[in-house]
Amino acid sequence: MAVLTRYETVIGIEVHAQLRTSSKMFCSCPTGAAAGEPDEPNTRVCPVCLGLPGTLPVINRRAVELVILTGLALECHVETDAVRFERKNYFYPDLPKGYQISQYALPLCSGGRLSVPVPSEGTEVLVDITRAHLEEDTARLQHGGRDHSLVDFNRAGVPLMEIVTEPDLRSPAQARAYGEALRDILRHIGASDGDMETGSMRIEGNVSLRPMGAADLGTKVEVKNLNSFRSLERAMEFEVARHAEALGRGEQLTQETRGWDEGKGRTVSQRSKEEANDYRYFPEPDLPPLRPAAEWVARLRAGMPELPVARRTRYRQSLGLSAYDAAVLTADVELAEYFDAVVAEGVAPKPAANWVTGEFSRLLNARAADGLRASGVALRPAGLAELIAEVESGAVSTTTAKTVLARTFHAGESPRAIIEAEELGGLSDTRAIGEAVSEVLANHPAQVAEYRSGKTQIYGFLVGQVMRHTAGRADGRLVDEELRRQLDGEQ
Ligand code: ADP
Ligand code: MG
Ligand code: ZN
Repeated sequence: MAVLTRYETVIGIEVHAQLRTSSKMFCSCPTGAAAGEPDEPNTRVCPVCLGLPGTLPVINRRAVELVILTGLALECHVETDAVRFERKNYFYPDLPKGYQISQYALPLCSGGRLSVPVPSEGTEVLVDITRAHLEEDTARLQHGGRDHSLVDFNRAGVPLMEIVTEPDLRSPAQARAYGEALRDILRHIGASDGDMETGSMRIEGNVSLRPMGAADLGTKVEVKNLNSFRSLERAMEFEVARHAEALGRGEQLTQETRGWDEGKGRTVSQRSKEEANDYRYFPEPDLPPLRPAAEWVARLRAGMPELPVARRTRYRQSLGLSAYDAAVLTADVELAEYFDAVVAEGVAPKPAANWVTGEFSRLLNARAADGLRASGVALRPAGLAELIAEVESGAVSTTTAKTVLARTFHAGESPRAIIEAEELGGLSDTRAIGEAVSEVLANHPAQVAEYRSGKTQIYGFLVGQVMRHTAGRADGRLVDEELRRQLDGEQ
């Protein structure tokens, strides 16, 4: 009988993230359509990003800054010596020059690390970062059935950062947690939108198995086409099972690139893996070596925004939020900034977190497909703070407040103004309630006499009359107090 071998999962991750610059990597074409403009294919192009002969690239300073910021956030060494751009040569219709300008031998950032909490395993893994380098994106191909494909060069030359880890992850859940932690960082420092769905962040998972305790790495498979963190985790799980089965049968795995088929929930072989020398990398002769000044790097380090880990710790320790709320808020830096602004208006952290992660997020997510982010919501943090204050003081019920939020969310007018204009607020004015009670008692002498004779069941009827008289707006506790005072008090 065969001895059952136990295997260890080994995963390394490569991430490509589009950098948040306004212009492309080596020319001045815009990276996105202007607000309100239609996004037509092949409108953001010029001789440089179309690869026409005789053009010269110019390095985008902001793109370099964003990679350095990322490197610093990942505790990398930032190269201040001569970083060369290199040409990665291959032919494909999405690559107009026939080569991609990238960095190879000496990346801008290298040797970093990221500590990643893995809640599902109750652990935290330390992931070594091999490198973070700068390159340019390719055009987008659109395959139109059997007989043709279309190409849109708007994406050609958009600044792209590649971040590669060492093979330090030991489970699909860890791989996913790493991806999410990295996305949070990229969003916090404003390096990238980090959207898997729109392709501004793309992940490749490299996975292999080896017998427990073995020192050498097994044959790896690279999986592409992952458009969510869930797909990454599922694809890695699929591969782990496939490898274990093959190895269990004594088979050799082929080093290859596979694509994830989301619908079928499995990976499919795409091509056997090319070697680096297939690309004939060589120094880009049209660009000078890049030498980031140490003072520049120091300035970027000094201006580093608060990172997700620090923000989560602040939310938990200084503001007393739950781990869940802290995680939800920091997964979307704009939501976190919105929340911070609501708290800055004087709202207590817990109700602020409840509203921002609750009803506010629900309304936001309903419009997420249109690209709405917290910063674009018409109701500004001061407005939400106003509304929460009305709820907290008992002036309006939570139900009323949700209605008011839904109305002001896209329109942006003052919730308090609406509450006052439409008298949505509860009646908490003792004098007004006193008057309502007096009037009800005066109008129902028989019931009052009944109550005073000891038949106190009639009390509920009187409460109902007062509520009706105030159109249901009176604060129940005050009505009760006032009714008892007038019924039981001086006669
Ligand atoms: P390639 O040249 O094929 O792109 P690299 O050595 O650059 O391979 O590694 C790419 C990614 O794959 C890195 O994240 C690395 O950590 C990971 N990796 C390398 N070898 C293995 C392996 N045997 N198992 C799992 N991941 C691996
Ligand atoms: Mg690779
Ligand atoms: Zn251009």
